[in-house]
Amino acid sequence: MEGNYAVGDVITTKKQHPCGSNEWKILRVGAEFRIKCLGCGHQLMLPRSKVIAMIRKKSNESESHKSDQETMVKTEIKK
Ligand SMILES: [Zn+2]
Repeated sequence: MEGNYAVGDVITTKKQHPCGSNEWKILRVGAEFRIKCLGCGHQLMLPRSKVIAMIRKKSNESESHKSDQETMVKTEIKK
């Protein structure tokens, strides 16, 4: 699972941020990652190894759209 992180990816961490969110968006990758809390917007700069250790899963934003399929309703055009 290591090594497949890119800017824009959303990750879920094992530990919750004090604001209650455990989802972070990756803003920068490299030896150090910059991640932003999706709950409160707080940004952190952490060594890559530390970020990878705290990740529970990676959720692509495109994947989150899949759950919309069930709620997708065919729009009826009413005249
Ligand atoms: Zn937060």
